[in-house]
Amino acid sequence: MPDRVLGSVTVPKNSGWASTVRKGQCIRVMGRSVVDFVAFNLHDLTERFDQARTKTNQAKLFISTGDQLLSKLNKPLLTIVADTFHEGRHDLQKGMCSRKRFELVAAGLAHRNFIEGVDPNPKRPEDIPTHGCYENLSEAVRPWDIAPVDIPSPFNIFQTMRIDADTGAMFDTFVRPKEEAHVDFRAEMDCLVALSACPESGRGQAVRVEIFEPEDR
Ligand SMILES: [Zn+2]
Repeated sequence: MPDRVLGSVTVPKNSGWASTVRKGQCIRVMGRSVVDFVAFNLHDLTERFDQARTKTNQAKLFISTGDQLLSKLNKPLLTIVADTFHEGRHDLQKGMCSRKRFELVAAGLAHRNFIEGVDPNPKRPEDIPTHGCYENLSEAVRPWDIAPVDIPSPFNIFQTMRIDADTGAMFDTFVRPKEEAHVDFRAEMDCLVALSACPESGRGQAVRVEIFEPEDR
């Protein structure tokens, strides 16, 4: 039996999307630019994805196939069952971009350094995106009455960071999938999942999403 596709959608750049995913179902996230991804326990929306639990309980900063996204209550929300992003690693350090963050960076009040040594951040007010992942995710989960401040820091798919092991300095990079890559997650409980096609200061692209029943069920 092939995978049975239950639904698919294209999320335009700098917009968000959310959906329920039942235990045992899978979600595929496909793209070439950064995707900010969060998950909640569908039956208790206060139980949310937690970056720290995910890193600490698995004793690693980077996760890929076979690893899990854990909740604040130490329960697995999702397991990564496929990952074709071979050029880099996904990020578990950063939060999400927002209008406020763009303004702070443009004003020099928040930092963002690229390992490539360039500064692609817009400086002119008219070039600053009017919204980012924070606003996109806030809008996406609004039907579930989740307050924006209750959205956890995301799993940043296709966002490769370089971290200096001695100083802890974090650098953004331009490392992205050369061709469209995908990450497949299997839900370990009934979940609400939400994602944002990050604007990446104007460089972001649309994201394709598919929910399916895997063939071996
Ligand atoms: Zn973003």
